[in-house]
Amino acid sequence: MITANENYNKLNASYLFADIAKRVQLYQESNPDKEVIRLGIGDVTLPLPPAVIQGFKRGVDEMSQDATFRGYGPEQGYLFLRQAIAAVDFQSRGADIDADEIFVSDGAKCDTGNFQELFSNNITIAIPDPVYPVYLDTNVMAGRTGGFKDGRYQGIVYMDCLKEKAFMPDLPDAPVDLIYLCFPNNPTGATATRDQLAAWVDYARENKALILFDAAYEAFIRDENLPRSIYEIPGAKEVAVEFRSLSKTAGFTGTRCGFTVVPKACMIYTAKGSKVSLHDMWNRRQSTKFNGVSYPVQKAAEAVYSQEGQAQIKANIDYYLANARVVRQTMTELGFDHVGGENAPYIWIDGNGRDSWEFFDLLLDKAGVVCTPGQGFGRCGAQYIRISAFNSPENVAKAMARVKEVLKKL
Ligand code: PLP
Repeated sequence: MITANENYNKLNASYLFADIAKRVQLYQESNPDKEVIRLGIGDVTLPLPPAVIQGFKRGVDEMSQDATFRGYGPEQGYLFLRQAIAAVDFQSRGADIDADEIFVSDGAKCDTGNFQELFSNNITIAIPDPVYPVYLDTNVMAGRTGGFKDGRYQGIVYMDCLKEKAFMPDLPDAPVDLIYLCFPNNPTGATATRDQLAAWVDYARENKALILFDAAYEAFIRDENLPRSIYEIPGAKEVAVEFRSLSKTAGFTGTRCGFTVVPKACMIYTAKGSKVSLHDMWNRRQSTKFNGVSYPVQKAAEAVYSQEGQAQIKANIDYYLANARVVRQTMTELGFDHVGGENAPYIWIDGNGRDSWEFFDLLLDKAGVVCTPGQGFGRCGAQYIRISAFNSPENVAKAMARVKEVLKKL
């Protein structure tokens, strides 16, 4: 008899974006003449920048010629891309990361979800609340948690990210083995300073723990004093893995490319305490289960790192950050406390005691604007909504004008 992985039964049945889609569909059916503006799901709206398209096309052309055709590539990614990433994203900022410590992939969702395979099942895991749901759900699927009770999985150490602490998690009171961190944060848009990250690196070194650092939104950081990579912190190479994505950085949500940095100095341990190279393990995992990203996509990604590409992606991100500014200004005028949107594409808005789904329904029903209810990211999000800056300036202005009309009457 073929039996199921019953850990899947533990998963919280409600899938946030499916629930939102259902409510939006119902609204549209009952209001067919009303235009809905979507500031919910975090998907880019601008097309790929011209330099990226040229790189992409060059890759496709090469695939059409005998002399330049390529079949299977290296599972870790082509060296031309790994070298460009190491130079531009890390070495230029003083982070000593080599090309062979970079593993190119089809995005950060897969990598952040797959990485937990490398750890034993009896580790203690610390996860922020609110959080990008992939970290939690993949550990549930792997059997590292108990059931879902009162909005939380048993066995996980939740790190509450609260307004009074600027949505920064505290260091855990009791030792943990694996720590998920994400800055700039999804959903709160909060960022971490060098000192704050250094405290986590020190904690991991003292406790022989590992940090999984998700930097999918680092390209939105405009404050030059903020670190973009955890490897800007001395000692991080021994205790941290970093996930990056070209999705929001360069508009690759549909093109698919990201990468994970696993430094050679990063060690984990056998039950008896011997060191194991995490780099060797991830290399083995990827070589066995992954066959690389398509050559034209890697050529497109390489172009992101050209001078032209860097200028074009910066202009696109500036476009989204200008939208974020409009959302922040509106919320300030209306008297709703908020965080994010300065070095991140998300604005996390305090509903002033209103339940997040109630706030979501209010904006949808009265303004035709879709946001994301904070509850979907964890219990600490129950009284917040997330607004995303990924849309056109025209739509954001229109959405904010409608929201103003609705909220000022409350
Ligand atoms: N990490 C975070 C925090 C995200 O918000 C997202 C996407 O929304 C991802 C990772 C996934 O990125 P990718 O498109 O590279 O899979």
